[in-house]
Amino acid sequence: MAAACPCGSGDAFAACCRPLLRGERDAATAGELMRSRYTAFVRRDEAYLLHTWSASTRPATVDTDGVTWLGLDVLATTGGQAADAVGTVTFAAHFRAEDPGRPDASQTLREHSSFAREEGRWVYVDGVHDS
Ligand SMILES: [Zn+2]
Repeated sequence: MAAACPCGSGDAFAACCRPLLRGERDAATAGELMRSRYTAFVRRDEAYLLHTWSASTRPATVDTDGVTWLGLDVLATTGGQAADAVGTVTFAAHFRAEDPGRPDASQTLREHSSFAREEGRWVYVDGVHDS
């Protein structure tokens, strides 16, 4: 049986985020890019995270250690479709910090992320966290 995609789409990884992470195609929408970036965090694919980060806000490095990702809920999207130049995605990502003092504590990161099209492809610009 094909492995389910970590992004929670319900599709097989091979038919969902894998072709994006491999650079075989670009995300068609901001929401698809956001899901593929979540999958890249799960798989600790730091090169993909940097590749899909806006040149205006991209950090020098990205650190994916120390966290086990448990699941993703996409809560809302605006714009981000094929005809748009910008878009937003609001999501909740569930994770467990690899903290020996709190081995079972799952936490939730809620973020309102902004995406834009740069040179024709969707990139992550920045995000605001809800507490
Ligand atoms: Zn996926």
